[in-house]
Amino acid sequence: MPVVDLRSDTVTRPTQAMREAMARAEVGDDVYGEDPTVNALQERLAADLGFVAGLFVPSGTQSNLLALLAHCERGDEYIVGMDAHTYRYEGGGAAVLGSIQPQPLVQAADGSLPLDAVEQAIKPLDDAHYARTRLVCLENTWHGRVLPLDYLQASRALCDRRGLALHLDGARLFNAAVAQGVPPRTIAVHFDSVSVCLSKGLGAPVGSVLLGTQALIGGARRWRKVAGGGMRQAGILAAAGLHALDHHVTALADDHARAAQLATALDGAPAVRVVAQHTNMVFLDVTSGRVDALRAHMEAAGVRVSVGYTPRVRLVLHRDVDDVGLQRTLDALHAFRG
Ligand SMILES: *Cc1c(COP(=O)(O)O)cnc(C)c1O
Repeated sequence: MPVVDLRSDTVTRPTQAMREAMARAEVGDDVYGEDPTVNALQERLAADLGFVAGLFVPSGTQSNLLALLAHCERGDEYIVGMDAHTYRYEGGGAAVLGSIQPQPLVQAADGSLPLDAVEQAIKPLDDAHYARTRLVCLENTWHGRVLPLDYLQASRALCDRRGLALHLDGARLFNAAVAQGVPPRTIAVHFDSVSVCLSKGLGAPVGSVLLGTQALIGGARRWRKVAGGGMRQAGILAAAGLHALDHHVTALADDHARAAQLATALDGAPAVRVVAQHTNMVFLDVTSGRVDALRAHMEAAGVRVSVGYTPRVRLVLHRDVDDVGLQRTLDALHAFRG
């Protein structure tokens, strides 16, 4: 009985067809810019998302870090959500490696940064007491939530008015686009740079792509080398990303549908309560002190769930969970007595 792994969409494994595409990939030395498959992936995503240039990198964490290093200099500052991945879950990389100060702000319940709070956090440029505010970072989706398009537009307008750049941690940008029924470009167009993960719901084994202007990506390419992220015949990995973009995007809607189905079908479960469902994620409240018992109960039923990421139990649907896996999850959750 294969385990149903709902901890994250990062656990998705490459399909046979993806592995074959990887095996067929033409390759070259990407540090010299000579890997045709890496170049094709970068150009493809740049064109799709409305940017001039892209950079293939090993992880989403590195992609966000390179964006911060390329946008900001030592003594600069970025405004970011208190619970954003770029602030909270990336080891403080921008501060550690770039001497870039974060200005974290409490996010609204929908994941947005309240724009009046952003405005108030911007420091006066002509006063040496302050770090220089350069950049605002948003995250979409955030815990599965999709940021409204009119909010993105208002953020862009604020950044234009105050001379700031705007970066998107779009690890799950494609989930947001599929949920809103818009091309990903409709979201990306508001940003100066966007980071996209190929290794989450899209199902590639490794890789993210950072998109931006030629100048920004040039800077990020330099920092990628400094960070040890310059890869050689990386076309084998980029081929998986291209395959995912061709074959795995529309299926994200199935993950969202299964998440909604899961949330609805948990109505009446004795010891768990659905507190939220957005795109491919479901969050549960469990009787106080029984989270570890739930995890053990689920593990015994062959279902793996995450309890560490937030105080609540998070269930993430993805392409490696089918209807059989969904049913097993539901049966196990209904059987939990607290
Ligand atoms: C996963 C994730 C990242 C980082 O991706 P890694 O490839 O795991 O480094 C960045 N931002 C968000 C919102 C993520 O979910």
